[in-house]
Amino acid sequence: MDYKIVIDAGHGGDDPGASGNGIIEKDLNLKISNYMYDRFRELGVPVKIIRSTDETISPTERVNRVLDAFGNSDDVVVISNHINAGGAEFIYHYII
Ligand SMILES: [Zn+2]
Repeated sequence: MDYKIVIDAGHGGDDPGASGNGIIEKDLNLKISNYMYDRFRELGVPVKIIRSTDETISPTERVNRVLDAFGNSDDVVVISNHINAGGAEFIYHYII
């Protein structure tokens, strides 16, 4: 099966996501997503990206963009990029 790829850069605009060590999740998600988008294009894989700039996207709009990319089909793979700020140790201390 020839897959089509939809890349979603998590968060964006008014929604920064996680942050730590001077890194804001929405920015890193966008860098990773733009890199993936460029690489898939270079490789000749059909690919679309949900956002390529720092814009606010509502959950409904995000889903609509995913569905508009290549439709809702078994040959569509959606990659949603997110980066967490905390590790297991943080969660452990938080719970205790
Ligand atoms: Zn996230």
